[in-house]
Amino acid sequence: MIFLSDYNMLLSEYLVQGVDVWINTPLRPWEACGTSGMKVLVNGGINLSELDGWWAEAYTPEVGWALGDGQEHGDDPDWNAHEAGQLYDLLEREVVPEFYSRDDQGIPVAWVNRMRESMAQLTPRFSTNRTVREYTEQHYLPAAEAYRERSADKGAFGAQMVDWRRALGQKWNALRFGEVKIETVGEQHVFEVQMYLDGFDPDAVRVELYAEGKDGTTPERVEMQRVRELVGAISGYVYRASVSAVRTASDYTARLMPKRDGVAIPLEENHILWQK
Ligand SMILES: *Cc1c(COP(=O)(O)O)cnc(C)c1O
Repeated sequence: MIFLSDYNMLLSEYLVQGVDVWINTPLRPWEACGTSGMKVLVNGGINLSELDGWWAEAYTPEVGWALGDGQEHGDDPDWNAHEAGQLYDLLEREVVPEFYSRDDQGIPVAWVNRMRESMAQLTPRFSTNRTVREYTEQHYLPAAEAYRERSADKGAFGAQMVDWRRALGQKWNALRFGEVKIETVGEQHVFEVQMYLDGFDPDAVRVELYAEGKDGTTPERVEMQRVRELVGAISGYVYRASVSAVRTASDYTARLMPKRDGVAIPLEENHILWQK
């Protein structure tokens, strides 16, 4: 074991170029990311690391080796001992044999295959090219475009936005839900929701049904259509939407949010009114 002090870019360069296996053994969940392991990829090194940080996302059996079970175990000494055993087993039974098993030209064929899989599968995803491109295309360019729109004409749209936000803030507490009716028709739950907008522009809001995603998937959001005005109410409306009856109706909650073209919601305007 050698201790290298003062990790810096130069030392990092030598290390990631010079190793065959990068071993990273943080205690889950304390690895912030593990970018050193990513730098190893392009240099043909293979990762053997705790399933934490980037490796929890990147690991598959063809591209390297994993420690732990992806769960948190605090500082349980039994688990630490178990993982230490796992590390030495992997080194003895998989890593070292694969590295030293050579064909008659001296090539460690299985090792080289793993290296190629690691480079081919992981470098396009875990790279600054991919990151900078995505930030640029998905965030910086749209933000620059939005700035251009808002600042044109001496900031006309920007001023409208500020007025709209002020009006919204003043009106928000007056907006409320009325009755919510749910009817199950065949394979569908049909929701009808009454909304009282107290004079607020109905085109400036969106009413939707929301359900948590199952097993960590993205939440389900179904926009409700404004179907009629409530008779005898001032700016009362009925909104309707149908969803599949595969899930129980009680999984869904109606909510009201602001809506306006050119404004990123909920990033810039995060009011949400939930059905009680
Ligand atoms: C890559 C790098 C890091 C990141 O190290 P981790 O392995 O992600 O903790 C830190 N410092 C320097 C100088 C680096 O080059």
